[in-house]
Amino acid sequence: MPQTFEYTFDTPVYKGKTSFSTGLYINGQWVDGSKGTTIDVINPTNGQLVTKISEGTKEDVDLAVVAAQKTFDTVWGLNTPGTRRAELLNNLGNLMQAHFDELAALEALDNGKTFGWAQDVDVTDSIATIKYYAGWADKIQGKTIETTAGKLVYTRHEPIGVVGQIIPWNFPLMMMAWKIGPALATGNCIILKPSEFTPLTAIRMSHLIQEAGFPPGVVNIIPGYGTTVGAAISEHPHIDKVAFTGSTLVGRKIMEAAARTNLKNVTLELGGKSPNIIFDDADIDQAVRFTSHGIFWNHGQACCAGSRIYVHAKVYDEFLTKFTDKAKSLKVGDPFGLDTYQGPQVSQIQFDRIMSYIDSGRQQGATLHLGGERHGSEGYFIKPTIFTDTKPDMRIVQEEIFGPVGVVIRFEDDDDVINQANDTMYGLAAAVFSKNIDRALQVAHKLKAGTAWVNCINQLHPQVPFGGFKQSGIGRELGEYALENYTAVKAVHVNFSLSVK
Ligand code: NDP
Repeated sequence: MPQTFEYTFDTPVYKGKTSFSTGLYINGQWVDGSKGTTIDVINPTNGQLVTKISEGTKEDVDLAVVAAQKTFDTVWGLNTPGTRRAELLNNLGNLMQAHFDELAALEALDNGKTFGWAQDVDVTDSIATIKYYAGWADKIQGKTIETTAGKLVYTRHEPIGVVGQIIPWNFPLMMMAWKIGPALATGNCIILKPSEFTPLTAIRMSHLIQEAGFPPGVVNIIPGYGTTVGAAISEHPHIDKVAFTGSTLVGRKIMEAAARTNLKNVTLELGGKSPNIIFDDADIDQAVRFTSHGIFWNHGQACCAGSRIYVHAKVYDEFLTKFTDKAKSLKVGDPFGLDTYQGPQVSQIQFDRIMSYIDSGRQQGATLHLGGERHGSEGYFIKPTIFTDTKPDMRIVQEEIFGPVGVVIRFEDDDDVINQANDTMYGLAAAVFSKNIDRALQVAHKLKAGTAWVNCINQLHPQVPFGGFKQSGIGRELGEYALENYTAVKAVHVNFSLSVK
């Protein structure tokens, strides 16, 4: 029998209770994993055990795929009209709204992000995404195509079938919503693996998914390790599509697994090292506020974090002074504290990884301008950190740190900064600050990135596609574009009066 997680939140910002089974969710039931083992869920604020959850295995993925395929062939897929899928997605969105604070509190407990940010961004955006895709569910349409007299040709956008989804720990609920929204709107069945560092909201969602009325087997949630459950999903011969968000390293492994097995369709949303360019004609106070948000929000654990901050020489000193003051003003501490901006990093591993990047910056000769050390004596807190005097080939300039660490780089020439900004294997996002809209747009168009923000940063909307150029990914999530990830186009040729020799 899977354990029931019971927790009472008694914090300055939220008081409430939660209670739910922590089993794997397979075919509409909460069950133990096939080996009967569990995974420890750790609170990053103090390193203490929060609860244990059932650990999934390859055998559990196999069971879930059989159940999902049966559901797809009988009561889901093309057997359920879009209007019904829309109704179910709307039910789910409404239930998430009814459990709004509970979901935000679970995310803050598990991931370490602040309760306020979890409310304002993670839960709000997740509900908006589910409802946005509810709107699409009865609008999945093909085309009729003129070819030759005597023939009718039309296309159908059919669901792919059983799809695998592997999500990371930095935005657990949001990444789940970005993935299940378009997959369910188009009629697919899902095998989803949350990160074992942050499984709680996905497990809680399994209960809301059942309550919303989705038939058993439509959504299956199997927490487990990447090397077991993640690998089983990406290698599975009867999973025809896999969508992944995480590191470029693991994205490569998933593509290899897909190539080696059944050539499943792969979409990847991977890392970034996004440039943020501040020109001499920018509104500096506005640029400082967005730059701080760009690198320190979510503790820098955002794939689109504006981590390379290029500042025009004419405003460099003013910008750096104001940016430093802003970074110093950000309160680091308890995610449930009244005015906390930044909580702990997600795990000991991530804490160590970030600290090793900070060491490498020092060793390679950059100036540690601010921070660079642990905050407090327990948990995984790192102070907002700024490096200056970097060189383009330093690791802290080239590699994704995924922590509250920004490098501030002086530039003088527009063409030169565009070259520097594009000198990376990544291409997820970029930002430009200038009051001269011609200059800003010209630069935005020259940056090799899937998203370009002008006079803002980290703006995401369910309606707007998101994804990467170069090694930041393949395919687009969100918006109408994401529907393509979950449909296969069939062309149907109907003959009226053609004959063949
Ligand atoms: P990973 O890319 O390793 O993890 C992301 C997800 O993939 C997790 O669910 C993980 O499971 C799973 N996974 C791991 N190995 C495999 C595999 N062989 N097959 C299938 N799935 C697998 O990220 P990390 O947590 O290790 O973080 C490392 C770095 O990745 C970060 O520092 C950051 O730079 C980047 N990252 C980028 C993200 C983004 O949004 N683009 C999100 C998270 C990380 P498990 O947790 O068990 O390993």
